[in-house]
Amino acid sequence: TSKMAKSKFEYVKTFETEEKLLPNCWIVVRLDGKAFHRFSAKHDFTKPNDERALSLMNKAASVVMNEFKDITLSYGQSDEYSFVLRKDTILYNRRGPKIMTYINSLFSSSYVYHWGHYFTTKLKYPPAFDARVVLYPTDENLRDYLSWRQADCHINNLYNTTFWALVLKGGLTNAEAEKRLSGTLSSDKNEILFSEFDTNYNDEPFLYKKGTILVRKRIRHPKNGKTCVVVLPLHEDLIQDAFWERHSEILAVKTAGSYEWPESRPLP
Ligand code: ATP
Ligand code: ATP
Ligand code: MG
Ligand code: MG
Ligand code: MG
Ligand code: MG
Ligand code: MG
Repeated sequence: TSKMAKSKFEYVKTFETEEKLLPNCWIVVRLDGKAFHRFSAKHDFTKPNDERALSLMNKAASVVMNEFKDITLSYGQSDEYSFVLRKDTILYNRRGPKIMTYINSLFSSSYVYHWGHYFTTKLKYPPAFDARVVLYPTDENLRDYLSWRQADCHINNLYNTTFWALVLKGGLTNAEAEKRLSGTLSSDKNEILFSEFDTNYNDEPFLYKKGTILVRKRIRHPKNGKTCVVVLPLHEDLIQDAFWERHSEILAVKTAGSYEWPESRPLP
């Protein structure tokens, strides 16, 4: 590279623009599987929820969190994952494309790399994920973002659970089930599940109803007693305040402020 460095071609480098993300904002990177409606059909995902596929998504996200320590929380459901970076992160000088593409490619390659651990069937073609980066200036904006994704998870899961009950247990065609559900409210779907399929939606697994929240926790190792930091998966409500009170470290930015220490003053 040192020979090329002074070449007459080098001016093209000046066409590059630095895309630095605004300081002091939460950085969210959201990935979403490309055409996973098709991908899930081609790979015989169980409907409405394939647990292997969700576990694989969670595994790939854990790899990302173990690599990038400035990610404080991640949230995943269906074929999507959101990664939240500390608002004071200086990762890659807050260069948006660099952060987004590293997260996306590490997630995507991990999804493929770990496929065989979750599926006995072969991967038929390479999956792809899109990515976007969004800035949220306030804690409230960040919480509303995550609430939006979890509410989406709930709405889709209630719909899909009812849809597939009508198809797989009720013998309706996909088109008939779709027609039956068009214009129905949440309460109608709960009622269909309860009265026709003896299913109480509340008893469905939290993994399906709430998605997966990955947080970092310092734990005492149960075997050797040493403390270590682990990525912990949670399947619980994050819309209510209770979650943020239980995990208050997530919103707390823990960098110390700077202070000019006078020479005359003894150090503490
Ligand atoms: P960065 O993360 O900053 O890109 P890097 O180690 O990838 O760091 P690059 O400037 O991208 O640095 O250089 C890529 C390096 O990878 C090369 O210096 C070389 O050592 C190695 N490399 C890449 N491709 C090959 C190859 N085909 N054969 C041998 N070495 C290779
Ligand atoms: P796009 O490329 O626009 O994102 P898409 O087909 O991926 O198109 P999404 O809205 O992202 O559309 O929906 C993802 C689809 O993937 C779901 O509708 C569902 O059919 C399927 N899917 C994802 N994860 C699972 C899973 N764990 N179990 C069963 N199906 C799943
Ligand atoms: Mg290179
Ligand atoms: Mg989409
Ligand atoms: Mg998708
Ligand atoms: Mg999706
Ligand atoms: Mg390189």
